[in-house]
Amino acid sequence: MARVSVESLRKEYDVGTVVAVDDLDLEIEDGEFVTVVGPSGCGKTTTLRMLAGLERPTSGRIRIGETDVTDVHAKNRDVAMVFQNYALYPHKTVFENMAFGLRMSTDLSADEREARVVETAEMMDIEELLEDKPDELSGGQKQRVALGRAIVREPDLFLFDEPLSNLDAKLRTSMRAEIQRIQDELGITAVYVTHDQHEAMTMGDRIVILNDGTLQQQGKPTDVYENP
Ligand code: ADP
Ligand code: ADP
Repeated sequence: MARVSVESLRKEYDVGTVVAVDDLDLEIEDGEFVTVVGPSGCGKTTTLRMLAGLERPTSGRIRIGETDVTDVHAKNRDVAMVFQNYALYPHKTVFENMAFGLRMSTDLSADEREARVVETAEMMDIEELLEDKPDELSGGQKQRVALGRAIVREPDLFLFDEPLSNLDAKLRTSMRAEIQRIQDELGITAVYVTHDQHEAMTMGDRIVILNDGTLQQQGKPTDVYENP
């Protein structure tokens, strides 16, 4: 886990005619879970993609722990992302999906990798699915695997891009509880993007409201929303 520091982060598209993120400053404490909300087009996804290293900022800096990662590509950042569409490798089993990220990001032996995958699968209650391929899984199971794949790497930073929006209401509730449990047990540092006010209210230590690429308001959930 690590502290994250975002300084004057800016992203322009179409030679400056679109300012997606407008000199954003943001500090995230070690072990803090920050929820980012705001209207469509306010810059949530662009911010997340820059934190992930999938998008190069126009200007500004990003630090994770002691390291300035601004010019470090996604594959060399100690960051794990959980997407709305799960983004599992369709031809790999659940075990291979989870072990692959681990192989890319650590120098564990094959035995150690296997032990960590199995341990994480037990934590996520997906140990029965390890030999299955993604197309044999339900949406809820896929998202548990995607979460497990992120957790197994023990990254400095977790990035969530509307991870629950493809699930039905009942699954959303149980996955929300699952993510809260992970947060409680592991004390992860996370940025969680959602357009769902209820999710933002119930998850996370702090809510950040973006508007037009800038930080409009931030605070504890109960301070930001009048009706807790
Ligand atoms: P959000 O995730 O909050 O809906 P985005 O970060 O996706 O917002 O988009 C912020 C702004 O940047 C929007 O005006 C969007 O149209 C624009 N934008 C995002 N990606 C691109 C792109 N690849 N090219 C041009 N404009 C983009
Ligand atoms: P490709 O260029 O084939 O799509 P890359 O893995 O090189 O694949 O890049 C994926 C994304 O990451 C692109 O949007 C690219 O602009 C961005 N990118 C590449 N290098 C960096 C970097 N050093 N820092 C931030 N973003 C980067």
